[in-house]
Amino acid sequence: MTDLPNLIGGRLQPPQAGAYLDVYEPATGAVFARCPDSDRADVDAAIIAARRAFPDWAATSAEERAKVLNRLADLVERDLEELAQLESRDSGKPIKLARTLDIPRAVVNLRFFAAAITQWASDAHATDARTLNYTLRQPLGVVACISPWNLPLYLFTWKIAPALAAGNTVVAKPSEVTPCTAARLGALAIEAGFPAGVLNIVQGTGPRAGQALVEHPHVKAVSFTGSTRTGMAIATAVAPKFKKLSLEMGGKNPAIVFADADLSDANLDTIVRSGFANQGETCLCGSRLLIERSIYDDFKECYLERVRALRVGDPDNAASDLGALVSKAHYDKVLGCIERARNEGGQVLCGGGPVHVKDRCAGGWFVAPTVIEGLPCECATNQEEIFGPVVTLIPFDDEDEALAIANGTDYGLATSLWTTNLDRAHRFAAQLEFGIVWINCWLQRDLRTPFGGVKNSSVGREGGVEALRFFTEPKNICIRFR
Ligand code: NAD
Repeated sequence: MTDLPNLIGGRLQPPQAGAYLDVYEPATGAVFARCPDSDRADVDAAIIAARRAFPDWAATSAEERAKVLNRLADLVERDLEELAQLESRDSGKPIKLARTLDIPRAVVNLRFFAAAITQWASDAHATDARTLNYTLRQPLGVVACISPWNLPLYLFTWKIAPALAAGNTVVAKPSEVTPCTAARLGALAIEAGFPAGVLNIVQGTGPRAGQALVEHPHVKAVSFTGSTRTGMAIATAVAPKFKKLSLEMGGKNPAIVFADADLSDANLDTIVRSGFANQGETCLCGSRLLIERSIYDDFKECYLERVRALRVGDPDNAASDLGALVSKAHYDKVLGCIERARNEGGQVLCGGGPVHVKDRCAGGWFVAPTVIEGLPCECATNQEEIFGPVVTLIPFDDEDEALAIANGTDYGLATSLWTTNLDRAHRFAAQLEFGIVWINCWLQRDLRTPFGGVKNSSVGREGGVEALRFFTEPKNICIRFR
């Protein structure tokens, strides 16, 4: 049994009170590690270390900061296989996903912001012949980065990389449900040569370590990804303290298929993937599939055939398309949502319950990819985020109806639109109330683009210069000369 450490002041260390949380392997249901159940004392120690490290780190050149981030990226890449296995074991996701998406993307995140900071420029405005304004973009100080369990190292690095690149020092808290790869990253950060206190990683629960972190008076900004409910709690806690706040939260994303869509095999595969990748535990997954009525029956047949072909099994098996859900609590929640959908009058077309995987995975938390039809748009199943392998099919008659259904929830993160009509694609995209619109694709990411949503899905944007702006304070300097 491994006891994971915190990283505080450049040292891997146990929690001060010696308290730990069990870490489960979702594929087996067994405990395989312990995560520090850090409290206010650990958070205070991390913030003291980060404050001490700030002046020197803020004064380093962008090139120097980029060099250390690139060294960390190289080490993550060196240990890619080990990290992928750890991520898969900790989260239940298929090993092939951890190998091809999660860990490679962590490497890319670190390299992307290392490069971005060396290319970033600030504004200058020549007001008249003798007056010049220029804007400094200065780091904020100590910032908090809080990440969820669904894409553990991927989202952890997505936050810490821009924060560090911009010259801040960081106290980061990964999810207590999937703490392992962040703990490993702590060791790699030491090896990469980060000065002590620049990056601190405090493990523990939201209500204890997380709350102490966001409320701390010396934390200047909070970058959070997780549920809308937690985002609300954090916003409530930090608003009276006027901290900078970036929130990336839940979604109830629609995928919209028009009768003129190109439904090639590759596109159908992408539509299936957009619902079920990572067991549907991706904030960008489309959980409402809107289909133009004239093709509804034919489309449904092709779609179900593909969904039924998805293999649910041991995440360690390279052939598994879906692994286990992340925790017993989440497994129970998702099964409860399927039951609720039945009670709301939904017809389960495939899946609809647990999958019993044999041998080492007999105690694991596996759920079959589930497709449901016949539900009204206003019901809880079509309004609330389930965050599991559950997709509802919803027919529509025309563009107006599709738009009303797509926009008809409290969320507005991402949507995908399938049509070959260029006019419609542009017209429709402009009216969709979402931060991200994919047309004839899904999860096609360019890290320079603004990432985030509207309504209850986000406050602010991440990615590219948006992230660098968030993690810096602009200071305008106006000089008048003779
Ligand atoms: P969660 O809100 O339960 O937890 C997220 C993080 O917040 C964890 O590290 C947790 O310990 C911490 N936390 C909880 N309470 C806290 C508090 N009071 N103060 C400070 N920190 C606290 O979310 P989750 O269950 O880990 O993740 C799933 C959710 O994340 C889904 O809703 C999903 O849509 C969302 N998500 C959003 C995006 C996005 O980019 N919009 C990406 C991934 C996941």
